[in-house]
This record gives sequence, structure tokens and C-alpha cells, in this order.
Amino acid sequence: MAGRIRPRRIVVPEVTAAATETSAPAASFVPKARRLRRLLVVSNRLPDLRSPALPDERKRPVGGLVSALQPVLAARDGLWFGWSGRSGPTRLFGMDDASHPALAWIDLPSELVRDYYNGFCNRALWPLLHSFPSRMHFRDDEWTAYVAANEAFADAVSQIVADDAPVWVHDFHLLLAGAALRRRGHRGRIGLFLHVPFPSPDLLATLPWHARVVSDMLRFDLVGFQTPGDLDHFRRAARAVAGCHQRGDVLIGDGVRARTGAFPIGIIPEDIREDASAQTNEEIGALLRTTASTQLVVGVDRLDYTKGIPERLCAVERLLDRSPEWRGKVSVVQVSVPSRAEVPEYAEERRRVEHVVGRINGEFGEAHWTPVRYLYRSYRRSHLAQLYRAADVGLVTPLRDGMNLVAKEFVAAQDPRCPGVLLLSRFAGAAVELRDALLTNPFHVDGLAADLDRALRMDEDERRARHARLLEAVERTNAATWADSFLRALEG
Ligand code: UDP
Repeated sequence: MAGRIRPRRIVVPEVTAAATETSAPAASFVPKARRLRRLLVVSNRLPDLRSPALPDERKRPVGGLVSALQPVLAARDGLWFGWSGRSGPTRLFGMDDASHPALAWIDLPSELVRDYYNGFCNRALWPLLHSFPSRMHFRDDEWTAYVAANEAFADAVSQIVADDAPVWVHDFHLLLAGAALRRRGHRGRIGLFLHVPFPSPDLLATLPWHARVVSDMLRFDLVGFQTPGDLDHFRRAARAVAGCHQRGDVLIGDGVRARTGAFPIGIIPEDIREDASAQTNEEIGALLRTTASTQLVVGVDRLDYTKGIPERLCAVERLLDRSPEWRGKVSVVQVSVPSRAEVPEYAEERRRVEHVVGRINGEFGEAHWTPVRYLYRSYRRSHLAQLYRAADVGLVTPLRDGMNLVAKEFVAAQDPRCPGVLLLSRFAGAAVELRDALLTNPFHVDGLAADLDRALRMDEDERRARHARLLEAVERTNAATWADSFLRALEG
């Protein structure tokens, strides 16, 4: 990611190494009067604003946060602050007020990135929050780095905005940032939205520092979750760990008054619809020609163990094994976007996926038919929309997911006259709103295979009726309503 942000107008001079090598915040960096009063969005990573002509399009990093927030921020003239993606021996701040949205960033020392991001975020919090206890790794030094990174973000935020500006913090990388900002005298409203699930209090208690995490989360004015289930888990943890009681949607405790709510994130359905009905991109067209004589099943995910990719491929294998009539009649396209490849669990997951793909194609493939087309790369969202529209079945079967925007994009991309079927995991946050999808249990290979069979056979009347109700849900809570309702609650 080095050098991905080219500032057109530096508003704030970069802090020199000498000024930031101390652990104390560089308090005189931006004169108080110049600190901004407008909304500041804070996330671990900044959006990728590079031109579409990327040097390596296949490895373009993608994520739900960027997809959902970028257009919303642009519409509100907000400022987005995050880690630049660069690591170096010193911390540097920079700001580009001429980009859309305006950006400010921090560079972090490489050891901090290793321990905070690759370590604590990806190997402790991610598996904990997604309820994968067997994959959790807790290390004291990585926790210390997490605390230090949250302090570094808070230092930078208090440099950029006035102490009464509203601040909207995103996701599990920054659970301690609200409390850190309060310690620096921030008086304005601070909100947190958690994009990932929140686990049950008994699982949360396996984290040695869970009491600190919960009490710091309670220092935000508003804590938002994807689903009522996640919200309920947090409220129970706040009662058990911090002795809070609840009045309406507010948690009250010793020096604590935090509003809480569920704010399911959405997409911009019109954009997806437009992309899906545009002239087919050459590469997607070529891919679709190879599967033209079969029914098409599509899966699109980051290559992450929470997404259940090997499990779903095993269900495809089971279907081809038990129902030979599908051989040569159905093709699966699985797009797996490279993700966190430097984390050992992800390298192992890639090996698992590629092993199953090889096994299925070896066992069932014919000269004229490849059962699974596996693409270890990313595509532009506009091109994916065309793939979704061509699909008979969208296979969105995470073992656990905060929301899953691909599920909503799949619905928006369909031709309402002849829509494909969304086969959706019960354990995706999206399943709360998308009740009319074909809901499935990805942990049960036989059941998933049977559900895939049902999806492939579903008649047009049922597909149309389900799709109409799904589309209504996708349009009701979209990216704009999500941001508006969170910000209204934060300001209210
Ligand atoms: N995406 C993309 N290109 C790809 C694969 C995915 O642009 O090759 C986008 C996808 O359209 C969606 C986002 O990345 O908007 C993934 O969000 P989701 O909530 O499904 O999963 P996450 O990756 O955030 O866990």
C-alpha cells in the first residue's frame, strides 16, 4: 500500500520524526484555532482513492467498510482519518483536504503494525468477535500494542479536530479510542459502530482484557451494532462486567452513560442496479461464456475462514456426488479475494480452499466442463454486479459475518423479471433483514447441499416473489439510511 495517497494540497504539515518520537502527543502541532469542527470519521484504514487504473488490479484490497462509507462521506463533506497503510520507524501525520472525501492519516511503526494489526486485531479480536475460539491467540505484548495504537489514533484525532467536534469511530481496531479521546479532553460526541459481530458474554470473558474493553466501549456516547443479537450480547456484557443498568436504549453505570442501538449497514442499490445492467465487461463476458451452457452458482468473498468457503465447496462436492444429474449442468464461480495473507491462519485457509477445488475438479471435471472456477483475485464491484445478475444462485454462506454486503448487492443486481436465488447463511447479519432468502446452515454439509439443490430447482414464480420482498428490504435500509440514522442518534 506504500505511496497510495498522493496529497494534492497539504493543509497540515507532516510532523517530523523528531517531533513524534516521544510518546507524548505533539500538542502544538496544529494551532487550536485551526482544528476542524466538521464530522471526523475514524477507521483503521483509509479508503482506497487511487485511480481505477491500478498497477495490480487483481490484488486490490476491498472491504465492506470502504464500500459503505465512501459515498456517504463524500455526500456529507466529512473528513476521514485512518492509518495510511504505510509503516515506518516514526509516526507521521498528513492531511489532504482537496480529495473527496478529505483525508487525514497517520503512519505507524512497523513493529506496532505487526503486533497491533496482524497480531491483536487479526489473531485475537477477529476470531473472538466472530466466535471462533479455537483460532484465538492472546499475547500480552500484542495487547500492549493494541492499547498503544488506540492512544496513537487518539493523539492524532485531538490534533485534527476541535475538542467539541463530532467523531465517528469505526470497528474493532479502535474499541479503546473513545476513552483515550476523553482522557485528552474531548467534549464532543463520540460514536462507535462495530461492523463485525459481538460475541456472547461467556465467550467474551475468555479475553483476558475483556473488562477494560467493555468499560472503554462504554465511554462512547453511542455504540452501534449490526443486529439486535449483537446489541443484546453487548448489553449483557455491560451489565455483567461493568455493573451497568439499562434505561431505554441507554446503559448507565459509574461515570457511564452510553446509548446503544442496532444499525444494519446497507448498500446503494441504484448504483448496483445500474452497474448490473450496463454493457458486460469483456473479462466477465469471457468468464460467462465458459459457463454459458450450465446453471451458474456464484460465491464472492475475501479469503477468510469466517466466510465458510471450503464448507460450501464441500456441499457442492456432496451435491455432485449424490445427484449425478447435476454433473455437467451446473458451474460454480468462486471469487476469493486475497486477504491478510501474512497471517498464518489465512495462508492455511487458502491451502484448504485450493485443496477442495482441486479435489472436486479432479473427481468430476470433464474436457468440456469444469465444475468449480476458482479465482484468487478481486474484481471491481461494478463488474461483480454483472456476474451476480448472470447467476442462478448466489452462494453467500459465511460461518459468521457482521452483515455481508455481497448478499445485499446480489439482490440489487438481479433482473426482477427473472431473478436468481440468494442462498444465505443464517449466521450472516444480513439474514435478519433478508428473511426471504433461502436460509441455510453452512455447518451442515448435507443440509447445504440439499438447499443448493432446492435453489437450483426453484421455479420462476417463487424466485420472483422472494426477490421482490428481498429488494424491498435492501432498499429500506441502505447505506444512506444507515449513516443518517447513526448520526441522528449520535447528535440526538
Ligand atoms: N468486493 C469487491 N471486489 C471483489 C470482492 C468483493 O469490490 O472482488 C466488495 C463487495 O462488492 C462488497 C465488499 O467488497 O461491497 C465486501 O463486503 P462484505 O460485507 O461482503 O465482506 P467483508 O469483506 O467486509 O468481510
